[in-house]
Amino acid sequence: MVNNQSSTQSNQTKKYRIKVDRNLCIGAASCVALAMKTFALDSENKAVVLDEAGDPPESIKLAAESCPTKAIILENIGTGEQEYP
Ligand code: SF4
Repeated sequence: MVNNQSSTQSNQTKKYRIKVDRNLCIGAASCVALAMKTFALDSENKAVVLDEAGDPPESIKLAAESCPTKAIILENIGTGEQEYP
């Protein structure tokens, strides 16, 4: 039987180097809602990166775009360029 369970390990292609600017993060957690295997809130309610390939790159991009303070910085590993913001 082929099962179709969601995997707990990261098997996404890593596209981004992800940084969170802790000075900008206000703990709004929309990044966590959109990419919960990539981001989490720490004990100070600041976002931390759990796994740069925790979610599909599109979800990570959406998560970064959802951040009200643009605290999430995405660098495209392939090009070495900052892709967001
Ligand atoms: S969406 Fe932005 S402000 Fe909210 S927790 Fe994530 S990084 Fe922080």
